[in-house]
Amino acid sequence: MKKHNFGAGPSILPQEVFEQSAQACLDYNGIGLSLLEISHRSKEFTAILEESLALIKELLHVPDDYSILFLQGGANMQFNMIPYNILNDDETADFVETDIWSTRAEEETRLYGKTNIIASSKEANFNYIPKDFKVDEHATYLHLTSNNTIYGTEFFEDKQYAIPVVCDMSSDIFSRPVDISKYHLIYAGAQKNLGCAGITLIIIKNEWLGRSKRPKSKMWDYSIYAKNNSLYNTPPVFTIYTCLLTLRWLKKLGGLSEMENRNKAKAALLYAEIDRNPLFTGHAVPEDRSRMNINFVSTHPEDEEAFLEFVKPYGIHGIKGYRTVGGFRASCYNALPIESVQVLVDAMQAFEQSK
Ligand code: PMP
Repeated sequence: MKKHNFGAGPSILPQEVFEQSAQACLDYNGIGLSLLEISHRSKEFTAILEESLALIKELLHVPDDYSILFLQGGANMQFNMIPYNILNDDETADFVETDIWSTRAEEETRLYGKTNIIASSKEANFNYIPKDFKVDEHATYLHLTSNNTIYGTEFFEDKQYAIPVVCDMSSDIFSRPVDISKYHLIYAGAQKNLGCAGITLIIIKNEWLGRSKRPKSKMWDYSIYAKNNSLYNTPPVFTIYTCLLTLRWLKKLGGLSEMENRNKAKAALLYAEIDRNPLFTGHAVPEDRSRMNINFVSTHPEDEEAFLEFVKPYGIHGIKGYRTVGGFRASCYNALPIESVQVLVDAMQAFEQSK
């Protein structure tokens, strides 16, 4: 039986992506070769890469003065690569600290320039998104994390700030339409809404390519990837194919507005049960609740282990919360059907009745 996969990442992908990518490993499009044994310079892979980049541009309405890059090393590598490429030694980057991921990004940035945490919700175990913060107009950029995977809070608005914005969208990219023009650089690990683990998507305003003055290692330089259409070295061919299949699925279902409607419906269903059921309490404050990662705890901590056991016969997988929050985290990425959320809600109600 296919489980209801609420894992935070690598996470559920559309079933047809699993099926088609599995088939491509055996024989890609009937050419008598596996996808895993063809050159990244072959016409087959060139077509996969071109269509993937074109679909990203189309679905996110990426303006023409931006480059779309596929890099390896995960979002963690971007915590370092962004300041290396963008920030000069005597310049400052502002940070809004909303999760351990933004903390890590700030720590890596200090290796290359100055940093300033202008707002943080750390004192409240990151259960809200700081608002009304003031950016330093002399800073080179503001760094945000749009969805906070561990604590379950999310920025829903693409706001205009006085300085360029860099945003880690690893866990909510493609979950809603985004106004790319409000950002100078967006980055996102693939392993949630885009494809299987192995690449990071970068969308960067062209005027920022080659911005920092330091001499750069080629493998660490965005402009080298941009010039070489992400083919400076061998890319993860299989991962990019799973991205293409997921992007095709997204387009077929109606694109990002349709995804946003579905994600709103799933989140509303689960948060309504969290608020109604006296055995559970939400972690994030209501106005900042993430649609992607829904965190809640047991009202009676002794119920926690019992609930994790209780849901097993329902085929529910991956709801144990991160250790710094405890309780439960139900990740409801694009590919998770609302039927799975309904099964979790049914299990919560049955647990309540069992008491
Ligand atoms: N940023 C966010 C928002 C994340 O959710 C994650 C991983 N879950 C990361 C960064 C780190 O990503 P990676 O493991 O790809 O380096």
